[in-house]
Amino acid sequence: MSRVTSLCVFCGSSPGRDPRHRAAAERLGRLLAGAGVRLIYGGGHTGLMGALADAALAAGGAVTGVIPGHLVRRELAHERVRLEIVDSMHARKQRMFELADAFAVLSGGVGTLDETFEIITWKQLGMHDKPIVVVDVAGYWRKLDELVAATVEAGFSSPETRMLYRVVPAVDDVLETLAGMPASTLAADSARL
Ligand code: AMP
Repeated sequence: MSRVTSLCVFCGSSPGRDPRHRAAAERLGRLLAGAGVRLIYGGGHTGLMGALADAALAAGGAVTGVIPGHLVRRELAHERVRLEIVDSMHARKQRMFELADAFAVLSGGVGTLDETFEIITWKQLGMHDKPIVVVDVAGYWRKLDELVAATVEAGFSSPETRMLYRVVPAVDDVLETLAGMPASTLAADSARL
């Protein structure tokens, strides 16, 4: 079973209209801090990303942000997290991947979708076996799961595709769900944490 020490969280750089999304991000930040799990995220201070990081820091948690140089201004790079500035969006995803034992997806926009599908497809291709948990806050990601199911139904994805990630209804389920999932054979790169 997996013992997660660093969790990469993908989520929106906007707050979303429904306040439940921000509340969930803040709660996950506090839960990670309380469990001694380092947060790995996109390094911004806007939207859910900022709310998540602020909550983790306020609760005494450890936070690493990975941000491309060209987004430092646009996403207001967080000044109080351990920040790694990388050259490109590709490098950001690669570095967040290296630093994390597992992944959680909170609500977000197309950037969050991009990150989520990339990490799922890398797993499908056997490039990693790290656990992925999608948090369906207020039913927000139901359509994502339905979309994947539709690709299976249409014969474009294998039925196993839906086993590559788990959907949970609330952030309170994330750590327990991860603990019950098989451990990854790939260790996170803890050398620079
Ligand atoms: P969004 O959900 O659209 O607010 O985006 C969430 C985060 O994903 C933001 O920090 C974006 O900069 C980031 N993002 C968007 N596209 C990519 C990409 N292709 N690679 C890495 N990060 C991305």
